[in-house]
Amino acid sequence: MYQYSRAIYRSIKDLIDPYADWDEQIESRRAVLVSCEQTMERLAKDPLYFSKPDRALFQDIRRYFPITAQAQVAWAVQAGVTAATRFIEEQIEAGALDGGIARCRATTRKGKPCQRTPLPDRDYCPSHQHLEAKAAA
Ligand SMILES: [Zn+2]
Repeated sequence: MYQYSRAIYRSIKDLIDPYADWDEQIESRRAVLVSCEQTMERLAKDPLYFSKPDRALFQDIRRYFPITAQAQVAWAVQAGVTAATRFIEEQIEAGALDGGIARCRATTRKGKPCQRTPLPDRDYCPSHQHLEAKAAA
């Protein structure tokens, strides 16, 4: 996922408030990069349960950019996150993320089969383990 967070960062780093003093710009760049990386990590870990990751990232970093650059930043974030999401979906479909091992037996709120790996010796993932408890009772 590293390449996606880097790509987003590269596309917006030069838009960071150019009137702030240099130290502040360095700080802002670091904060923006960390936010990009954290968003991508969370997306890779929990793609089905992270809703609107592009908006979440934009909310995190928008304060580092001048008003005049906000639309461009929002667009770049959306494009970058969309590319990353598509990549993750392809990985899931190819079974690459869980090695094609067992899948959780639950259905997500969107009506799709849950793609997460079940807990060891269980039929459900951590988010759905309550379903198993119910079935056993
Ligand atoms: Zn599940």
